[in-house]
Amino acid sequence: MVQGVGFRPFVHRIATREGLDGWVMNTNENVIIRISGASATIHRFVVSLREEAPAASMIEDIDVRELEPETIAGFSIRHSHDVSDDITEISPDIAVCDECLGDMKKTGTRLDYAFVNCTNCGPRFTIIRDLPYDRDKTTMQPFAMCPECHREYETITDRRFHAQPTACSVCGPNYELYAGGAMVTADIRVILHQLASCLDQNGTALIKGLGGMHLACNAFSETAVAKLRSVKRRDGKPFAVMFRDLASLRQFAMVDQAEEQSLRSWRRPIVLLKLKTGAFPAMAGNVNAGLGLLGVMLPYMPFHHLLFSYLDTPAIVLTSGNFSREPILTGNQAALSSFAPLVDAVILHNRDIFNRTDDSVVRVFGGIERVLRRSRGYVPAPVRTAMNTGGILAFGAELTNCFCIGKGKKAFLSQHIGDLQGLETTEFYEETIARFLKLFRMKPELLAVDLHPDYISTRTAMKYGDLPVVRVQHHHAHIASCMAEHHLDERVIGVAFDGTGYGDDGHTWGSEFLVCDLLDFTRISHFEYLPMPGGDRATEEPWRMAVSLLYHVYGDDIFKLGLPLFDQVGKEKIRMAVAMIDRKINCPLTSGAGRLFDAVAAVMGLCHTASFQAEGPMRLESLVREGIGGSYPFNAGETISFARTIRAIADDLAAGLDLKIIASKFHNTIISVIFESVKTIRSHYGISKVVLSGGVFQNKYLLEGTATLLRENSFDVYTHASIPANDGGIALGQLAVASKRRDHSCV
Ligand code: ZN
Ligand code: ZN
Ligand code: FE
Repeated sequence: MVQGVGFRPFVHRIATREGLDGWVMNTNENVIIRISGASATIHRFVVSLREEAPAASMIEDIDVRELEPETIAGFSIRHSHDVSDDITEISPDIAVCDECLGDMKKTGTRLDYAFVNCTNCGPRFTIIRDLPYDRDKTTMQPFAMCPECHREYETITDRRFHAQPTACSVCGPNYELYAGGAMVTADIRVILHQLASCLDQNGTALIKGLGGMHLACNAFSETAVAKLRSVKRRDGKPFAVMFRDLASLRQFAMVDQAEEQSLRSWRRPIVLLKLKTGAFPAMAGNVNAGLGLLGVMLPYMPFHHLLFSYLDTPAIVLTSGNFSREPILTGNQAALSSFAPLVDAVILHNRDIFNRTDDSVVRVFGGIERVLRRSRGYVPAPVRTAMNTGGILAFGAELTNCFCIGKGKKAFLSQHIGDLQGLETTEFYEETIARFLKLFRMKPELLAVDLHPDYISTRTAMKYGDLPVVRVQHHHAHIASCMAEHHLDERVIGVAFDGTGYGDDGHTWGSEFLVCDLLDFTRISHFEYLPMPGGDRATEEPWRMAVSLLYHVYGDDIFKLGLPLFDQVGKEKIRMAVAMIDRKINCPLTSGAGRLFDAVAAVMGLCHTASFQAEGPMRLESLVREGIGGSYPFNAGETISFARTIRAIADDLAAGLDLKIIASKFHNTIISVIFESVKTIRSHYGISKVVLSGGVFQNKYLLEGTATLLRENSFDVYTHASIPANDGGIALGQLAVASKRRDHSCV
């Protein structure tokens, strides 16, 4: 990644510093540097290239060749002459750099200027309409540079040399405060003062950001947070919180070294951290649904830094500005008409957002950053693969959708699109596919879709006319996604654990032990099928899965069990679910590991009805404590049965055992199940590479425990890092399988 990140000016700077002559030039795939001077100096130059490269650049390889000497006087940036349709890479958006923050404190046209940026920082993907990356092709086009900005833009030694979005308070965009639907002021100091007092006094605000709108409130006020929830029409899903700085964050959450690195990186994702107990003042409990985890981020826009200099509170809720189940809003008019009547303050700006992005979400497991939601700061950087993916368009899954296009060996995974259920999200999906095809000059030749015939993603693919289609089973795609991430192309043991995915027997899968390569898979074993009384409703109401599991084990004796669940839900509803199971009415079969976690969480009384996705499993995980040993019995084999497990859990509950111990023992049981199952597969097939994928592996304890145990027993374990383990990674897997099948003429 050497374009749009200030790479050529950087090369110029170090070359002139070392007194070297030559030139630097962009091509489609790389930069070429011609350098002439003493060999020791050239050596030092090459070292500096790697060590001092701009934060957002990424050097894959430096190929050094010796040429016949040539007389070159001085060092210059040559114009690209090789810019074909193949161009190339677009930088993700980069958090404001320290030097620009410094400029905001100096007198001049960037004092308190909230759109300051330079070649090392600022908006990129969110403002780019087309390539090549020039100001005219961005949403900065309406803003003509003032003479001073233009002078910097033209000066090679300036930090803003060829910084396409550069601007200042004389010539650039500005923020605007709205009240009652009308613009009140564009004076940044007045805006900041009013917004800060609104938030400090527990009001709610809509603030236009980088990739979309945000809704904000004081993170320490239960009333403010409750108000924000009603504005968003969001039930219980945890909100992300932005802290003033790392020092104030440390008072509330545990931060290790890897987590600190993620928090401070130029990508500035939301990082899931463990909350400290007993911090004062206490964070509002309704921010994160009382879970032990909190999604936190540090300021990344100049505006955020300015805002905190006016705010008293050290932390604000900053959640995507949209109604639940809709994509994040980007347009000023839409934001005004939707939210102006609902919030206390509306702050917009007049730089358009072209490409919508959400804040990305990561979590650190085993010292490695794991991307859970891949969007701002990560997209559209390509995923480098070991295969030819050219011309393949992969449509992804239904929920947590991302799609993916292939160009040569690069896979361009889209930003997080969301759940393809509402009209708005589906429109966003189709619009973004069209934009990616245009932006990356890609003409689809081969389509890859999920095996599920009714997915909106699958149906969307059918609109692309007469192209060949590869259908990829959901869990095969999960494993292939992780294989593609690690450049694996051989037979592996795949363990895919998630909530749902369409199986080739027509049932809902989700606990799959596969022997597979990129071409195909064999399903070796899985959890026992259970009926889902009420179908999809069982996903939102975990008590239904609990009844299903208990009824399977105890039959009519379940009513003799004195579980709290029966009082929470009511015996009448439970009898109805049992009747549905008996008569096989609306009871599709599932082997989803997520459903088992749901069932156990409900049996333990943790969550009978989910107020957000995966609430049951998250509550279960939040009880787990390191260092609690012991596990429950189970029956391994082709179908893995948890009948004995659930009896033992019911006994422990009846004996009043601490829920933390039960939750830990249950997690240990799942780790043992995985270990026993892959051991059996290894002994039959002689494969010792194990690939773990699927949303269930976003569970830190489960992933770390499984990986450690397997590695101790000489398995090679592959897990996701830069690609989501959840369905956001599915499209990459589909792309990989389609590429392999094309190579083998199986298309
Ligand atoms: Zn900067
Ligand atoms: Zn200017
Ligand atoms: Fe999945």
